[in-house]
Amino acid sequence: MNRRHHIAICLLTCLCLIWAACGMGAKECTDCKGTGKQICALCDGHGTITCEWCDGAGKKKCMTCGGKGKKEIDDYKYVQEHGQLVYKNVSHLVPCDQCKKTGSVSCPECKGKGRKACAKCFGTGTVGCGTCLGKGKIIREWKLKTR
Ligand SMILES: [Zn+2]
Ligand SMILES: [Zn+2]
Ligand SMILES: [Zn+2]
Ligand SMILES: [Zn+2]
Repeated sequence: MNRRHHIAICLLTCLCLIWAACGMGAKECTDCKGTGKQICALCDGHGTITCEWCDGAGKKKCMTCGGKGKKEIDDYKYVQEHGQLVYKNVSHLVPCDQCKKTGSVSCPECKGKGRKACAKCFGTGTVGCGTCLGKGKIIREWKLKTR
């Protein structure tokens, strides 16, 4: 027997062993490499995702002043006009207290961070493998389906 033959037989034996092992119950899950976990597809394993409320900016336009930093308030007063007392709207601009004149407020969803914990993996970055249901192994069905 030459060397090449020997290797071939070895390989064949190996394959047979693997095949037998596969047939004999638990097999390592190839999708998660036996860890039972997979990288979360939603956050790519980061555990956080870009806040969709503020597009990652961490800030949102102030709704109170429409981003102007000032808001117009209606003020009805009696004013002197041509010697007459007229009741009229003397609306004026006041600094917006909601956004402290900046025109933007910290995003309430991400608390200004721009990113928030991934809802799919709860910030862990990994999710349970769907193939092996987090077990890391796939239990082969022994019984053949019989009718
Ligand atoms: Zn995630
Ligand atoms: Zn404002
Ligand atoms: Zn946000
Ligand atoms: Zn798996």
